[in-house]
Amino acid sequence: MKTKGAILWGVGQEWSIEEIEIGDPRANEVTVELAASGLCHSDEHLVTGGTPVGSYPVLGGHEGAGVITEVGPGVTGLAVGDHVVTAFIPACGQCPPCSNGHQNLCDLGASLLAGTSISDGSYRVQAGGKDVVPMCLLGTFAPYITVHQASVVKIDPSIPLEVAALVGCGVTTGWGSATKVADVRPGETVVIMGAGGVGMNAIQGAAAAGALRVVVIEPVAGKHQWAKDFGATHVFSSVEEATPVVNEMTWGRMAEKAIITVGDIQGEDVQAAVSMIGKGGRVVVTGMGNAANMDVKLNLFEFTLLQKDLQGAIFGGANPRAEIPALLALYQAGQLKLDGLVTQKYSLAEINQGYQDMREGKNIRGMVVYTDADR
Ligand SMILES: [Zn+2]
Ligand SMILES: [Zn+2]
Repeated sequence: MKTKGAILWGVGQEWSIEEIEIGDPRANEVTVELAASGLCHSDEHLVTGGTPVGSYPVLGGHEGAGVITEVGPGVTGLAVGDHVVTAFIPACGQCPPCSNGHQNLCDLGASLLAGTSISDGSYRVQAGGKDVVPMCLLGTFAPYITVHQASVVKIDPSIPLEVAALVGCGVTTGWGSATKVADVRPGETVVIMGAGGVGMNAIQGAAAAGALRVVVIEPVAGKHQWAKDFGATHVFSSVEEATPVVNEMTWGRMAEKAIITVGDIQGEDVQAAVSMIGKGGRVVVTGMGNAANMDVKLNLFEFTLLQKDLQGAIFGGANPRAEIPALLALYQAGQLKLDGLVTQKYSLAEINQGYQDMREGKNIRGMVVYTDADR
C-alpha cells in the first residue's frame, strides 16, 4: 500500500514527509489504520544519533493507536475492526521473560532497532526504493502500519484512540516507573526529575500509590503548574533548590525514591538523584541516554554505606498486555488523567514543528492526529 510517512534519512536531518510503501500483512501480522501518534523524546534520539539503529532511512514513531484493517494468516485473538494500542516492545506472551511476568523484556525485542520484521526478517516498509527501519518495529509516523501481532494490544473500542495512544509509551513508562519499578509505598517522599510526557505520569503514579510528597524537579518554569495539576506537592527548578527543602521536610532522612525521567539523561543526573534519596532508598533510571555515553557520576562511598539502590527501567517494568488495558480502565473510571497530557495536536506535515516545540519545553505531549490529508 502507498501512503505517507515521516522519514529520517540520517543523523542531524529533519523528518521528511514523503510517499512510502507499506507491505500487506504476512504470517502473524496485522495492518492498522492509525488515528494518532505521540511525539516521544525517544524518536528525537534518532535525530541526534543517541539511539543507534540498524540503518537509515528510519520511519519514526512508536506511540500509536488505531483500528485493524487487515489480518494475515495465523493471527489469533485479533480481527478487522478491533481497536488497538501499539506496544513499542513486542510481547509474545511465551518467551521466558514474558512467562515470568516481564513482558517489557520480551525476547522479540531483540530486533527492535534493527527494523527487520518478526515474522520473516524482511523489511516491511520502503521509501524511495530503499528498505526502511520502522522505529521499534512500528513506525507510527505513518497513518498505516503493518506489524506483528505481538506489537499490538486490543483495547475497549469506546476509548478515544487519540487518548489511548498515550499508553503505548509515555504514560505507562512513567506510571510503571513509580508504581512498579520504584514500588512507591504510602507515606513515602518521591523525587521526580523531569516533568515531560513520562515524568508527568510518574507524578500521577507516585500520587496514586500514596506518596506523602511528590517532589518534582523541572527546569522549565512553564511546566510547574502542569506538574501540580498532575499531583506534584512541591516543584523546584533545580536539584540545588530542592535539596535543602527536602532535607528540612524529611527531618534529614531525604526521599525514599527518586525517578529520573529527563529526556536526554546525562551521567551527572545519576549522582544528583542518588543524593536526593536516603538510606536504603532507590533511584530509578527511566530517561534515555546516548548509547555511547559510559560516564556516570556516582559517589561510591555513599552508595555502599547507605545501601542505596540504582535500577534501570524500560516501559516502566510493565506488561503491555496487562497494563495497557488496566490503565485505560483507570482512565475510564476517572482515576488516571490522560486528556490534559496532549497540549498540542499536529498534522503529519507539522511534525518538525512538533519536535521544535518539544525542544523548547512547550508541550507535555505533542500528538500527531491523522486526517484524510495525511493518508
Ligand atoms: Zn516513547
Ligand atoms: Zn515474549
